[in-house]
Amino acid sequence: MTIFKKILDGAIPTQKIYEDDHCIAFKDIHPQAPVHILIIPRKEIPTLADAKPEDQALLGHLMIKTTEIARQLGIEEQGYRVVINCRQHGGQEVAHLHIHLLAGRQLKWPPG
Ligand code: AMP
Repeated sequence: MTIFKKILDGAIPTQKIYEDDHCIAFKDIHPQAPVHILIIPRKEIPTLADAKPEDQALLGHLMIKTTEIARQLGIEEQGYRVVINCRQHGGQEVAHLHIHLLAGRQLKWPPG
């Protein structure tokens, strides 16, 4: 079981900032920017590469919620970065699909 599944089950506490029937959003425990939020589906999809055509609406929901959370956090005007790490070369450590929402400082490009 992944650490994110334990968070979904309430077995591990987290600083939750949003939840609905399809996803939850909480603060990253090791923030890489002043704002670092993770948005994860309740459905256990290990990586973006495992998403199926039937997950299309869910992926859209996650993206729209990410924009709403950004608006609520007041980072919309200055901007932010949305990242999905996929598998080994993508730097993914937790095998439960998640979106990183990063903001609050000038982010560099390209990423490392
Ligand atoms: P990734 O490398 O894309 O799989 O990202 C996993 C993220 O989960 C990392 O940024 C971690 O800091 C974060 N993380 C791991 N455990 C926890 C936790 N218990 N609560 C919040 N964030 C976590």
